[in-house]
Amino acid sequence: MLKDRVVDIGKSAQDARFGAKIVDMARRLAQFSESADGLTCTFFSPAHKATASQLREWMHSAGLKAEIDAIGNVVGRHPSPGSAKALIVGSHYDTVINGGMFDGRLGILTALVVAEHLRCVGWRLPFHLDVVAFSEEEGVRFSAPYLGSSAIAGRFKEATMQYRDANGIRFGDLMGDTGASAISALARSASTLRGYLEVHIEQGPVLLQKGLPVGIVTSIAGAVRFWITIDGVAGHAGTVPMLLRHDAAAAAAEIVLAVERRCAGGATLVGTVGQLAVPRGAINVIPGRCELSLDLRAVDDGTRDAAVADILDTIKRIAERRGVTANVKEIARQAAVPCAKGFQSSFAKAISKTGIEPFYLVSGAGHDAAMFADLTDIGMLFVRCGNGGISHSPLETITEEDADLAARVLLDLLVNMD
Ligand SMILES: [Zn+2]
Repeated sequence: MLKDRVVDIGKSAQDARFGAKIVDMARRLAQFSESADGLTCTFFSPAHKATASQLREWMHSAGLKAEIDAIGNVVGRHPSPGSAKALIVGSHYDTVINGGMFDGRLGILTALVVAEHLRCVGWRLPFHLDVVAFSEEEGVRFSAPYLGSSAIAGRFKEATMQYRDANGIRFGDLMGDTGASAISALARSASTLRGYLEVHIEQGPVLLQKGLPVGIVTSIAGAVRFWITIDGVAGHAGTVPMLLRHDAAAAAAEIVLAVERRCAGGATLVGTVGQLAVPRGAINVIPGRCELSLDLRAVDDGTRDAAVADILDTIKRIAERRGVTANVKEIARQAAVPCAKGFQSSFAKAISKTGIEPFYLVSGAGHDAAMFADLTDIGMLFVRCGNGGISHSPLETITEEDADLAARVLLDLLVNMD
């Protein structure tokens, strides 16, 4: 019986033009921007609020019960009478500064067109389908990422209410008097969730190089971040002989190369020094101090922590040999998050039906899905990123065909879930 209904929905879905609709809506959303050119949509800006209203309107037109919650998430439900559980399918609608129009939004719009299709054909799922557009994931305005998803996942930290943006505006003031309690009331409990799914643009070149439109995410890599301060001895660039110097920047340069060398060996290990500065440096002064950041990630915490240990040891030896001190401060640590095996195989089945070989990959970037991993099963589908895999940039792009395929895969997975 179920099989027949799957065939029916497949036929009607063939006529739907999901991809064209997704790309068209992404273009229209990108018109709400804080900057005249490019796309910038940060938390609770006018552009951000306009984007939320537009999403709610589209959810209404798709026949979903939709509302904007206390922290700006847009939540639309395709209800299932008699069911107590909900499956969340979502992603974020905020962007980085001058970002791309598909990062986050692709996942929302894919879920939206699929939910609309289910409603149009009168398909009832055995759980509520909640399409969620999270208000904040990038952490641009308050240097605190995952604001929207952490609220629904019950992981919102009340200390966030005291955070201030670059203009001194307090997060708590934006939320209003009842903000903290309204946000904590958004938390879902594990017993009410059937799972969490997210479709996301890959933001890298792997699928593009493999010639594949979609890929199944096995795990979201966990990052460890450090801030390193190296103190050497400043001196006159003309008078101190090379062998008598304790050059902080030269030590930092050696560290950068050591990180690159150590991380080149692991298949999923990546290490980046993204910030590097000589405070109050001058052209004729030997650097007395150098500051650098270090971000290390891998698919599993063991691989990553082994690299962390090696690199910290190397930093110590470089400092000793050069007669400088290296102060290494850990500033963030996130565990790697595995995606549920069940969702991985459901995605694989749905992808196989389209004639495409299922392909598995790791997410090097963090995603809203990670917030839900302790609460319920999570699954993620990556969609090929064009233009060499560039993301967080106006050059970020996908094709209508790939978006279409992602929607069909999601639809197939949903109608085959118990
Ligand atoms: Zn994103």
